[in-house]
Amino acid sequence: ENKAPVTVIGLGPMGQAVVTTLLEHGHPVTVWNRTASRADGVVDRGAVRAGTAAEAVAASRLVLLSLTDYQAMYDILGGITDSLAGKVIVNLSSDSPERTREAARWASDHGAAFITGGIMVPESMVGGEGAYVYYSGPREVFDAHEPTLALLGRPDYVGTDAGLAQLYYQAQLDVFLTSLSAFLHATALLASAGVPATEYAPWAKETFGLVAYFLPEAAKAVQDGEHPGDQANVTMMGATADHIVEASKAAGIDLELPKAVKSHYDRAIAAGHGKDSWTSLYEVIKG
Ligand code: NDP
Repeated sequence: ENKAPVTVIGLGPMGQAVVTTLLEHGHPVTVWNRTASRADGVVDRGAVRAGTAAEAVAASRLVLLSLTDYQAMYDILGGITDSLAGKVIVNLSSDSPERTREAARWASDHGAAFITGGIMVPESMVGGEGAYVYYSGPREVFDAHEPTLALLGRPDYVGTDAGLAQLYYQAQLDVFLTSLSAFLHATALLASAGVPATEYAPWAKETFGLVAYFLPEAAKAVQDGEHPGDQANVTMMGATADHIVEASKAAGIDLELPKAVKSHYDRAIAAGHGKDSWTSLYEVIKG
């Protein structure tokens, strides 16, 4: 079976992992990177080095980009837009949803189809168990290339809006980064009393499990806009949020995160949600 040729532009750790995975599955892969030496490893594994970005684009209908941001795409392709007609550009780089939508229009102006991708795992996990990638853009274009894209990880198509895969990506990292900071903050709180981080970690895991357990119910409350406060209400939880700020002050550790959380509770109470469930914080957060 002849596998479709793929071009990959951008060979940071992620781009290299993408190329390696495609090569392992027998796809001919053409690569280009601004710093040419960064292609050496994948060329040793069988990728073809293009001399210029235009040559790289010419080599395949499917062109994957793995760059620091969307500006890098314009820096690379902006001068060779004549080569883009008929191409399918899958941009796996991170940027704002608005810049992503702009890029889809830009690609379309030059006759290319544009798919946004958000790889949700570190490069070491690309192509393996548990890897998944959000995609958005024209459905039929995604469908046509899904078998190839599926090699990188489970492809999760989220809609036609080019910005949507990017927004999903950021939503997931919103949860991830905030959780990591919360974990480190809690660790510092206990460390102020001499508790080692390794001792606390299993307890933090319990709480992450509890959060996961409550999510479906909380999502339903948010969706329905109904926040009955017969269990944990905002006034009670807000008092706890206040105690965390106080404890953090006493411990001499950073206050920004617990203050931000306390502020959600304060504003929910001010808006009349004191007796509602904590899910009513959503009314404050959604802006
Ligand atoms: P790097 O920052 O290591 O690589 C970025 C690539 O972009 C390099 O090939 C670099 O070229 C190129 N580049 C940057 N600016 C320009 C420019 N102005 N002109 C031309 N080329 C440019 O990033 P990663 O490989 O780690 O990540 C790539 C994307 O994947 C990012 O958007 C990242 O958010 C995303 N991602 C990464 C993950 C990871 O584990 N690494 C996980 C999930 C997503 P040069 O080599 O010449 O500098």
